[in-house]
Parts: sequence; structure tokens; C-alpha cells
Amino acid sequence: MMIYRKLLFVVLCVLGSLAAIQPAEARDWKDNLLDQDRCLTLYRVSSKENSTFCYWRKGFGYDRAGYAKANWILRDVTYRTQVAMDPLLLDTLFIIQQWLILEGRSGEIKILSGYRTPENNRKTKGSARLSQHMQGTAADIHVPGVSTKLLAAMSRIIGVGGVGIYIEKKFVHVDTAGVRIWAG
Ligand SMILES: [Zn+2]
Repeated sequence: MMIYRKLLFVVLCVLGSLAAIQPAEARDWKDNLLDQDRCLTLYRVSSKENSTFCYWRKGFGYDRAGYAKANWILRDVTYRTQVAMDPLLLDTLFIIQQWLILEGRSGEIKILSGYRTPENNRKTKGSARLSQHMQGTAADIHVPGVSTKLLAAMSRIIGVGGVGIYIEKKFVHVDTAGVRIWAG
């Protein structure tokens, strides 16, 4: 009995120290991934467009032409409107893509929704009245071959902002407006 108690104590200590160091490690992991040219390949389902661009260059900062391509592929396709997307959202998508590639996957990310005009947001079934999509801070994504649950878990670990899980519609909503989690 004593041995089991001792073992339990050791396990709890290890878990405790892991929990204590996890945030710093997570930051390092993300910083390391971001410390390179940040290039993304995104597929826009509604317009059937594929776009590859580098929105940030190591040693130089934001790449104007690449960032413009990001704004274009994430535009409101229906209402033909684009805005300046939140760079943090691009970083989130970049980290997800890098993670997929590191896992030996193709890295393909399908964009179901990016920026939405208020009018489009009103017409989008199930959308929040003050949706982050209207701020250029959100995207609904689908990764072929990766379950919605796993994609949501990956997005939560990245921990930039909101993560909405839409199991039936097979997409994950990611945004940069504070850490929140919900199921749609
Ligand atoms: Zn969304």
C-alpha cells in the first residue's frame, strides 16, 4: 500500500510539473514554427481557387503582395468584398498547416468561410449576430482526411482564440478573439 501511495505521489508530482511548464513549452513550439518564411496554401471551396502565398518573410516582416493574396482568398466570395485579415488568424492557419505537414499529411486546408459582410453574415444560417467573420478575424476550415474532432483538438492546442466544432457540417471555426470553445 505504501508503495502505491508513493507511486501516486510521484505521478502527481510529474503531472503537476508538466502542467506548470506546458504554457512556456507551447509558446516556444509556436515561436519556433513562426520563425521562418510564413507561406500558406489554401483552397477556397466556393470559388474553387487554390492559392499559395508567403505573407511574412523572415528578416523582413510582412510581405505586402503575399498578404494581399491572403486577403483575396479569404474574402467574401458571394459579396465580392475583401478586408485586411487579422495576421494572427493567418499565423493560426500557418501553424495548423505546418503541424499537418510535420505529421506527414498533405497540409491541405479548405476554407469554407473567411471574411463575411454583415449582409452575408445575416443570411448565413447559424451564424452569430456579432460574428468574428465580419471582423476578418475568423475562418471555417476543413482538412480532408482529418476528423473534425482532431482538427478542433489541434486548433485548441494552438490556443490563439475561439474554436467552434461543427461535427455534422464537418468544419472547425477558428478565430482570434480570445480563447473560447463551443460545439455547433
Ligand atoms: Zn465560423
